[in-house]
Amino acid sequence: MSRIEELFGSMVFGDAAMAERLPETVYKALKRTRSQGSALDRNIADTVAAAMKDWAMERGATHYSHWFQPMTGITAEKHEAFLSPSGNGGAIADFSGKELIKGEPDASSFPSGGLRVTFEARGYTAWDPTSYAFIKDDTLCIPTVFCSYNGQVLDKKTPLLRSNEALNTQALRVLKLLNPEKDVHRVFTTAGAEQEYFLIDRALWEKRPDLKYTGRTLFGARPPRGQELSDQYSGALRTRVSRYMRDLDEELWKLGIYAKTEHNEAAPSQHELAPVFTEVNIACDHNQLTMELMKKVAERHGFVCLLHEKPFRGVNGSGKHNNWSLCTDTGENLLDPGPDPSSNTRFLLFLCAVIRAVDLNQDLLRISTATAGNDNRLGGAEAPPAILSMFIGEDLCAVLDAAEHHESFDSGKPYMETGLGILPRFRKDTSDRNRTSPFAFTGNKFEFRMPGSASSVADPNVILNTIAADTLKYFADEMEKASDAAAMARRLIRHTVREHRQVLFNGNNYAPEWAVEAEKRGLLNLGSAAEAISHLTDEKNVELFARHGIFSREELVSRREIMLETYSKTIRIEALTALDMIRRDILPAVSAFSGHLTDVALKKRQLNIGCAYEVQTAGELSSLEADMAQTAQKLDLLLDSVPRTCAAQERALYYRREILSAMDALRACADKAEVLVGTEAWPYPGYGQLLFSED
Ligand code: ADP
Ligand code: MG
Repeated sequence: MSRIEELFGSMVFGDAAMAERLPETVYKALKRTRSQGSALDRNIADTVAAAMKDWAMERGATHYSHWFQPMTGITAEKHEAFLSPSGNGGAIADFSGKELIKGEPDASSFPSGGLRVTFEARGYTAWDPTSYAFIKDDTLCIPTVFCSYNGQVLDKKTPLLRSNEALNTQALRVLKLLNPEKDVHRVFTTAGAEQEYFLIDRALWEKRPDLKYTGRTLFGARPPRGQELSDQYSGALRTRVSRYMRDLDEELWKLGIYAKTEHNEAAPSQHELAPVFTEVNIACDHNQLTMELMKKVAERHGFVCLLHEKPFRGVNGSGKHNNWSLCTDTGENLLDPGPDPSSNTRFLLFLCAVIRAVDLNQDLLRISTATAGNDNRLGGAEAPPAILSMFIGEDLCAVLDAAEHHESFDSGKPYMETGLGILPRFRKDTSDRNRTSPFAFTGNKFEFRMPGSASSVADPNVILNTIAADTLKYFADEMEKASDAAAMARRLIRHTVREHRQVLFNGNNYAPEWAVEAEKRGLLNLGSAAEAISHLTDEKNVELFARHGIFSREELVSRREIMLETYSKTIRIEALTALDMIRRDILPAVSAFSGHLTDVALKKRQLNIGCAYEVQTAGELSSLEADMAQTAQKLDLLLDSVPRTCAAQERALYYRREILSAMDALRACADKAEVLVGTEAWPYPGYGQLLFSED
């Protein structure tokens, strides 16, 4: 066996381990749950638990933990030993079916947005048998959902599973109506999340309170060189980075995560990891584990892994491209155009379902990526703008135009001429890549590029699944009513192209003209998370989520509150960190350095030596110093006058407008001072050092 075969999935209680260790009836029951979504018989839980425990203990595990994804966006665990008193003062290793199926962590320390009052602090975790258990740090981790005493969701996994169900139901209806003979039993979403990140030397990171407390630099003058030479993207890996990536790959493979591609990204010290796509629920679990391991493995290599969306101003930020498609249990990709998309009604119908869904729900897609961190990135010159539009390429646009006007379509598409006889001939991609689009069709899947690098991909996928399910429901309803379902499908395609063409845009999304054009088209432009989030509870959205059983009104309100409070708290921590750095390190350093220059100038003057540099620099620094002290005081006052009794959105807007602009003013002074103060006298390692370490 090769090393990779030996490692891959070795720490996962996956299909092979189950087949080997479970009685056949139990194995088959579990498999049915996984492949068809059928409910699991509770009586088999004891058998599964015992097999899992033996398997885990053979691999050194001593504890088990329900592993869940609360609204903090990271994962949570509560470890319990595999232990029961044996009755004679000793202990036996034990793990029951009940313990596998249900846990009761205290929910009061997790965000609930008002759903759970403290006297009902109990929360429940429940086993998700569609995702495999795995061993991490000598602990058997069992993927679970997390809800309150009366079943309200407190996590990110439950709505994702619910949205999968909704999508499955509606997509199956459409498929049956299109082709009643076809034997499809299940439709599910596939996702592949490309993860961008920065690797920074740990010793340097230690010296930066901003990186430590907030994940991003709050100060830092631009170095003479950034990414303008475009020499970093997919360039040769530094030795230490390459060792890190190998190590990370192995750790991920052990957990059955298909880490496949690792390369350098556009910014210095920025990299990307792309997994092979899988079912969306697993893809989300895997992305959470990937982020956790990225950080952990970095420690072993003297690095810190930064997952923040914009750790450094002036160079690219990090996103998480969410590749998304629809697949059947018969192995067909419903977004695959096939050799002749123009006569592929099924493909065109599903494509149109996504077009309509995106156009009608621009707000929800925007909200699914709305965090304080991602606000630093969206709309920057490297990331898509906050305006939702879709790229489908000229070819598909032509196909849709033809469909709209009942015309036949002749692609006349040429073969790609590589000029190299040894390469296989392949047709030009149906869609040329457009890197600036927030939502691009890339051959047989959509790539949603707005999500930030630090967030869970559950949120965008819940939205994608739900809005797609909703349009598929509308399509299925119409087709059911019609005498000829196929003819109705073609009508729905034409209708969608006509009504929702406005959301299609193949041009440059970074161009300022696009914002103007988008406004003319009536597309939404929710510039900041603070503005976007409150739309979550707009009546249309409350109804949409209720229609598909994803969120109740209370659950949506709680999510809105958590998102807004997290936004405000994030900025508050940043502001306090900035103040701390200014007052305790930056101002004293500037004062000391200008004092030093003044001393030198006085001495030089006594000797009648020119001291223009010292005098001028000390003057500039003193005036920056005064500005900084004054702006810091203003920021302090602003922090004291945060409106407390108002709605959460008003507070978030206050943080965005007042606090962030005062922080910006503070940064402007500090960054000017940084380039005037001697390197040795500046209290922190600068951008040049952080981004361009060479080993
Ligand atoms: P890039 O966007 O960097 O050019 P690729 O086209 O290689 O990258 O694919 C990027 C990601 O898309 C990978 O993580 C891949 O697994 C994922 N992907 C490919 N096909 C699908 C699909 N049908 N569904 C979901 N994700 C997919
Ligand atoms: Mg990509």
